[in-house]
Amino acid sequence: MTFSEPNHWPRRVAMISAHTCPLSVPGKYKAGGLNVYVLELSRELSRRGVAVDVYTRLRDPEKPEVVWFAERARVIHLVAGSPQGRCGDTVLFEHLPGFVDEIAQFAVQEDLTYELVHGHYWLSGWVAAQLKGRWGTPMVQMFHTLGQVKNLVAQDGTPREPPLRIETERWAVGQADRLIAVNSVESAQLIWFYGAKPEQLHIVPGGVDTLLFRPIPKAQARRHLELEDGARVVLFVGRLDPIKGIEVLFGAFARLCANHSSGPCRLLVVGGDRDRERDKLQALRETAAGLGVAQEVQFIGSVEQQHLPCYYSAADVCVVPSYSESFGLVAMEAMACGTPVIASRVGGLQFTVQDGHTGFLVPPRDLGALADRMGCILRRPELAARMGKAGVERAREYSWARVAESILAVYGELHQVARLPERDKRAATF
Ligand code: UDP
Repeated sequence: MTFSEPNHWPRRVAMISAHTCPLSVPGKYKAGGLNVYVLELSRELSRRGVAVDVYTRLRDPEKPEVVWFAERARVIHLVAGSPQGRCGDTVLFEHLPGFVDEIAQFAVQEDLTYELVHGHYWLSGWVAAQLKGRWGTPMVQMFHTLGQVKNLVAQDGTPREPPLRIETERWAVGQADRLIAVNSVESAQLIWFYGAKPEQLHIVPGGVDTLLFRPIPKAQARRHLELEDGARVVLFVGRLDPIKGIEVLFGAFARLCANHSSGPCRLLVVGGDRDRERDKLQALRETAAGLGVAQEVQFIGSVEQQHLPCYYSAADVCVVPSYSESFGLVAMEAMACGTPVIASRVGGLQFTVQDGHTGFLVPPRDLGALADRMGCILRRPELAARMGKAGVERAREYSWARVAESILAVYGELHQVARLPERDKRAATF
């Protein structure tokens, strides 16, 4: 089947991203890889002739209800709780029944028929399952992160994911016709922790835009960022969430600086909302000061994706010290820009980064191993160059076009199911 055919399936998909808008700038508060994923997937589906309506919670009453971002893809902002600013997951959950009503009403007003509903994250899993029930459409679900897994790696002082999340995830797994995991680890976690059936699962790794994320000559990138004092550059990019392990990086970076053998170094921290995450940034500044590296650590705040290639290219090494990560878009983007990556040996990072080839994998929370590996890359430019080159080659295999084709193949499996009478659908799905 080619997608120029007028009868391709599905023609219209309801993409649900209740808690965060794909048009939000990633790196701030909760916006990150999920936002990038929904945006890129929807764009690629649109290119293939599929109309995509991304439903998300209205956060800014000044914003238009509908925003088009591709020829056939748009975001629809609908009310779910107070439309003013932030809303925690548990509070938002209470407003989801109203959000489902809003979506159903919007579809009636616009005379829209969806052939498939695709949920992202646990909150949208609940919404997608409700819409499946109302519309009788098949449901595809992707969690991006799992509450059980987050709780497993949480240490003292880190807030635990509530039982509501875990129960809802388990319920949504049971409702979904297909589940997308980004690698075999996530697939196994869905089976082990949530009782997913192997027949429900498909593995589709994430993507990277290699037209945007490509190497810029280091000297040029550094000139642009005014980093020309000769110091070696270590880079962190991501949300300021404790699970990202940024404090471990600070500790390792302080060791690296104390060791002196790598020469003067600076650590750039990209991410965080300078206005609304002031407290987190202040706490991190204090941590850096306590470790004696206040001068060397520079907080940039969040940076729009179009400017990120300059940061990745200016860096000697990009560090992803997360305690848990389902895929690790940052690692792939850095590789696409020709920068070696040191990442924790957890979740999807183990598949994204090839240990010893495109960078190094280190045990999570291991300051010593991280400092050693950083020193190794900073002291050996020829190794860094080789790893950078290998990263660029590796990233070429991970286009968003390939992600969209794989997801369309999953959707395609549900075409037959969608055509069956209601009573036969469940039996035919598994
Ligand atoms: N990102 C960004 N600007 C920032 C920080 C992050 O655009 O200031 C983007 C980054 O390019 C990546 C995403 O946010 O695409 C983070 O995805 P990742 O999978 O690494 O982490 P997640 O947010 O999903 O935990």
